Amino acid sequence: MVALFIYFLWKEKKKTNEFYTRNGGPILEKAKFIKIFKKEELKPIIKKSNFIGKGGFGEVYKGLIGNELVAVKKPISGSVLEIEQFKNEVIIQSQVIHKNIVRLKGCCLEVDIPMLVYEFLSKGSLEDILHSDNKLPLNMDLRLKIVAESADGLAYMHSKTTTKILHSDVKPANILLDDTFAPKISDFGISRLIARDKEHTQSVIGDRSYMDPLYLETGLLTEKSDVYSFGVVILELISRKKATYSDNNSLAHNLKLTRKRRKQLSILTRILH
Ligand code: ATP
Repeated sequence: MVALFIYFLWKEKKKTNEFYTRNGGPILEKAKFIKIFKKEELKPIIKKSNFIGKGGFGEVYKGLIGNELVAVKKPISGSVLEIEQFKNEVIIQSQVIHKNIVRLKGCCLEVDIPMLVYEFLSKGSLEDILHSDNKLPLNMDLRLKIVAESADGLAYMHSKTTTKILHSDVKPANILLDDTFAPKISDFGISRLIARDKEHTQSVIGDRSYMDPLYLETGLLTEKSDVYSFGVVILELISRKKATYSDNNSLAHNLKLTRKRRKQLSILTRILH
């Protein structure tokens, strides 16, 4: 019986070590700003009562580590794509420290699918703030502050890091806000690190409502694609309408139509005078 118990413990330890190595532990140990958590530290947080929400990548739980509030992201399926997105997120996040970019505090690698630990942002996502049933009032000053500070975060990713980072999925669901409504860009799962000499890359997935038409047409992604998506976010913040609110009726499309009509009107006025 004792031998069986020891064998079981040995097998568990072996599995834990294998996960740790497969999930990039030896490399990530060198990432200065990322703490590697033990699964026992995160286990008490992953429970129903701490559940905050679910995205394309996984479930998010709120918890306390030491005296700090954190959000723990636990991937759901563990497909190859998810593990790739996880690695991508850790590599990118370990390079960025900026007040308008969500801080990745650490990760847990001893489990089948790694978990990510972020700073907790009490106001949740801009998407929920703008469109959920219990909407908060948002005056214009606050909206402009959110625009200006998110732009700071995006500009930092595009021009201040050693390798340019393209987010490629800029949208209100990926902008989180802290208790003072300071915005922080999140979700780097499908972002790309681009060497400064390379202008673009291919094969990126993202939300079509925010996607640059040129990128949709050519498959080439540049920082201008992020800027386009951010433009749609600004329209959404100002109008408090969803980016695509019916099939052929989007905020970007309506803006283009309005500009066209205004141009025609000014030409007509000039002709008539
Ligand atoms: P997708 O991943 O498909 O783009 P998403 O961005 O909504 O969708 P997640 O980033 O997984 O998905 O977030 C799921 C939920 O958890 C959202 O409601 C989000 O506001 C919340 N959340 C995520 N990270 C944090 C955090 N650091 N602090 C507080 N809430 C968070």
